[in-house]
Amino acid sequence: MRHPIFAANWKMNQAPADASAFIRQFLAYFPRQQDRTVLIFPSALALHAVAEALKDRPDIQLGVQNIHWEDKGAFTGENSAPIARAAGAKFVLVGHSERRHVFGETDEETGKKAAAAIRAGLTPLVCVGETLAQREAGETGAVVIRQLRAAVATIDAQHIASSLVAYEPVWAIGTGKTASPSDASAVHAMIRAELRTLTGERGEAVPILYGGSVNRGNATALLAAAEVDGLLVGGASLDAEGWAAIVRA
Ligand code: PEP
Repeated sequence: MRHPIFAANWKMNQAPADASAFIRQFLAYFPRQQDRTVLIFPSALALHAVAEALKDRPDIQLGVQNIHWEDKGAFTGENSAPIARAAGAKFVLVGHSERRHVFGETDEETGKKAAAAIRAGLTPLVCVGETLAQREAGETGAVVIRQLRAAVATIDAQHIASSLVAYEPVWAIGTGKTASPSDASAVHAMIRAELRTLTGERGEAVPILYGGSVNRGNATALLAAAEVDGLLVGGASLDAEGWAAIVRA
């Protein structure tokens, strides 16, 4: 078993004071552990509060949910990778399905964002996943591989190998439906094969997380599936006790 990674995507939830209170509660349920990595992606506006609340817990790391692909400039309302890095983020979600399907982010834009992340010293967590229509049309493999290739198109093999990938079927996100462990394994294996093509043997070490309606009831089975190296969790990461139960899976 690889050293598992648990990532919480809080989406547009948890104001700074709520986020600090959450962390205090979560830390009480989750003493420091060496055998797993915990990442939290709060709202960018709560990043500072969460970093403060975690100052004695360097084992838990922070990321942002989105960045612009330019490093600075006239992009009102956006955050850049260097700003995120300076504010305490080490990771960034790239190509999350809500960015793609709610905000119309293209494959090309995810590629530019991943490249911006690398330039700034952030680790991209590249999210890929098919819609229900694509799954039913038998296009799952083609879609996730196309998204993965586009996201890392301008990144060198060494940096691809130090990135993270999440398989998040769009039809499973926030719906209460999950991929079965064996379906998740099958898609992760396709992603793994592509990572080997892109980076050679180094592709073996790239963590591939599963995301989509993970909760404390299904986390253990999903994590036990072949090729599943961790979990990316949205809704169920908003309850401190439930999130701690998942992280202990
Ligand atoms: C997500 O937003 O990445 C996610 C997996 O959400 P949920 O766990 O709520 O399906």
